[in-house]
Amino acid sequence: MIGYSRDEFTYMNFSRLVDEEASKQLSKMFDDVYETGKASRGSELQFIRNDGTRINVEISASLILDTKGNRAGIRNFIRDVTERKKAEETIRRLAYHDPLTGLPNRLLFRDRLNMAIARAKRHQQYLAVMMLDLDKFKDVNDTLGHHMGDHLLQDVGEILTGLLRKGDTVARMGGDEFLLLLPEIKKIEDSTTIAQKIVDAFQNPFVIEGNKIHITTSIGIAIYPDSSDDVDTLVKHADIAMYRAKETGRNNYQRFISSMVIREMK
Ligand code: GH3
Ligand code: MG
Repeated sequence: MIGYSRDEFTYMNFSRLVDEEASKQLSKMFDDVYETGKASRGSELQFIRNDGTRINVEISASLILDTKGNRAGIRNFIRDVTERKKAEETIRRLAYHDPLTGLPNRLLFRDRLNMAIARAKRHQQYLAVMMLDLDKFKDVNDTLGHHMGDHLLQDVGEILTGLLRKGDTVARMGGDEFLLLLPEIKKIEDSTTIAQKIVDAFQNPFVIEGNKIHITTSIGIAIYPDSSDDVDTLVKHADIAMYRAKETGRNNYQRFISSMVIREMK
């Protein structure tokens, strides 16, 4: 499991198999077991193998007593849990990402927005949430087929990611809807500059499998703290603003203003 021979392993100190932090964790575990006599079950840590690679293991320890009942040592069971860890990671990725584009999904977006709001509050900064919906995307599916539609959605994801900064988030909500989170904007106008940049980028056709596809997008913008400080309300406001962009002829952006809510309720 760890790449050493039995002989090499027999006299080896545990600290050679783990990093400093895990070494402390193990020492404490052994001390506790030795002193209390109570077995310790299933601590997870990493072992450093002979070739320097790491494996995730689960380690349990119990006290060994000799025939007279005196403490004679500690017995460990060590299980390689690398595969289980990988499976857990896959499940986490599936739960938080959109399978078609590989982008964060609605859940991960919400998590990040939650954290970004807390940070913006602390540093008294703005942040922007944008809802982006492709214009007449059904026509692409209808004329070129679902497969090309899928491909286009993937390309849109890449274009958007390329246009934004590293700390920004591009998420796919489902269908032809994307959500953007720009956690650090200096002033409100920065959000409209970026929205315009995105609208402009869609003026160039996408080339997919030799087909030139012209498609535009409508974007709604909601700003923290101007619009709201609540995750769901910010997304809702971005959505309302996006619908206004659709109403005003598509291929443009609109920023949320409170009078839009009143119209929505009518
Ligand atoms: P609008 O300008 O009003 O947004 O018009 P639209 O045609 O884009 O209409 P809408 O946004 O309501 O429809 C999005 C369409 O996206 C509906 C559905 O057929 C299609 N769609 C949803 N999910 C997928 C997908 O995963 N792949 C593909 N190819 N199409 C999808
Ligand atoms: Mg659409």
